[in-house]
Amino acid sequence: MTPRRDELAANLADTQARIAAACGAAGRDPAEITLVVVTKTFPAADLVELAALGVRDVGENRHQEAAPKFAQALAGGAHLVRHMIGQLQTNKAAAVAAYADVLHAVDRLSLVRALAEGLDRHGRTASALVQVSLDNTPGRGGADPDDVCAVADAIAACPELMLRGVMAVAPLGADPDAAFARLARVAEQMRVDHPDATWVSAGMSGDLEAAVRHGATHLRVGTAILGSRSPLL
Ligand SMILES: *Cc1c(COP(=O)(O)O)cnc(C)c1O
Repeated sequence: MTPRRDELAANLADTQARIAAACGAAGRDPAEITLVVVTKTFPAADLVELAALGVRDVGENRHQEAAPKFAQALAGGAHLVRHMIGQLQTNKAAAVAAYADVLHAVDRLSLVRALAEGLDRHGRTASALVQVSLDNTPGRGGADPDDVCAVADAIAACPELMLRGVMAVAPLGADPDAAFARLARVAEQMRVDHPDATWVSAGMSGDLEAAVRHGATHLRVGTAILGSRSPLL
């Protein structure tokens, strides 16, 4: 074991214990939860260590950083499910379509089209979540709850994209329980027309317990496992 692997192993165990406790309190089975380890700003070597520790899912938020890092991790023997969790620019969609397995931040029709075209060109398919805006602040990404249905229908109409559900980030300073309760209602509405869209990506290092209480199936955890990110990055 390298010292870094020991550190990651201890942090992973602590995070898994938090998830187990949150599931216990909510009467949920921890097997319903997928932990996506968010590796942004950390090196490809950490992805290789995480894979050796049994991590299956990793997330990145920027294409420029993710593309070379995922390639290096794969060259290092880490076979991981690649989640893109950050806002996507339409002009980067085709490039991201070359490698991403799960797209968490699909929030507009133009992005659906660009991703589907990119995937088609690469002969791939990917899972997609509709990012829901839970505050009314423009610029942080996410579809307005009133527009979620149209984005979901567009994803479902593309053979390259598999509509899996919803994703959100709790607004800064807001009560995460209120935010995730709202997301749960949007998820429920989506399942009326799309019963297979059962994923709810919500919860990060600071609010994963609230997300578990409100039905999250995917937690995106960075700091609690990798450590603090450099403020310079
Ligand atoms: C960075 C990031 C996370 C992880 O946040 P932590 O607080 O480090 O756990 C989760 N979701 C998104 C969209 C992120 O950009």
